[in-house]
Amino acid sequence: MAKVKRVPVGALKTNCYLLFDKGEIMVIDPGGESKTILREIEKTEGGVKYVTSTHPHFDHNLKEKKIAKETGGKILESLKEGEEIKIGESKIRVLKMSGHTKEDNCFLGNSFIISGDILFPGGHGRTDLPGGSKKEMERTLKRLKKELSDSTVVYPGHGEPFTMKEWKASFPEG
Ligand SMILES: [Zn+2]
Repeated sequence: MAKVKRVPVGALKTNCYLLFDKGEIMVIDPGGESKTILREIEKTEGGVKYVTSTHPHFDHNLKEKKIAKETGGKILESLKEGEEIKIGESKIRVLKMSGHTKEDNCFLGNSFIISGDILFPGGHGRTDLPGGSKKEMERTLKRLKKELSDSTVVYPGHGEPFTMKEWKASFPEG
């Protein structure tokens, strides 16, 4: 089972996540403070296999190339819906979303989801930035509510993790 380590970085306290299992690490959203991220990687057992981001905003992907270069990890781009990324013995499934940008990626593990700037307590991420859409966000939220169980732990792009059950209770109109 993949484990998750949360590393808040940069002025916007973006959550960079390390997913790791059996000596393999995937880095998601290395949006700043590459030294901090590299230090956390060093403390984590294993080597970096992949580096990727939930969406193309600088506070999520700024240090992608730097981390890939320093660790030898491969940058994953243009991910496809349903694609499975292998980390050790874990499979992480890509959910292609939109609403916050035109190309939001969520990463679904066995009991958790890395949701980028889609889900936040009390609602959802901004839809007023370039590529954002309120309508598409509504569709995205509908899908997540249908596909994720209440016990799924949501690791958002900023702030502390919460469960789907907590999210639903915080956003009843969603
Ligand atoms: Zn964003």
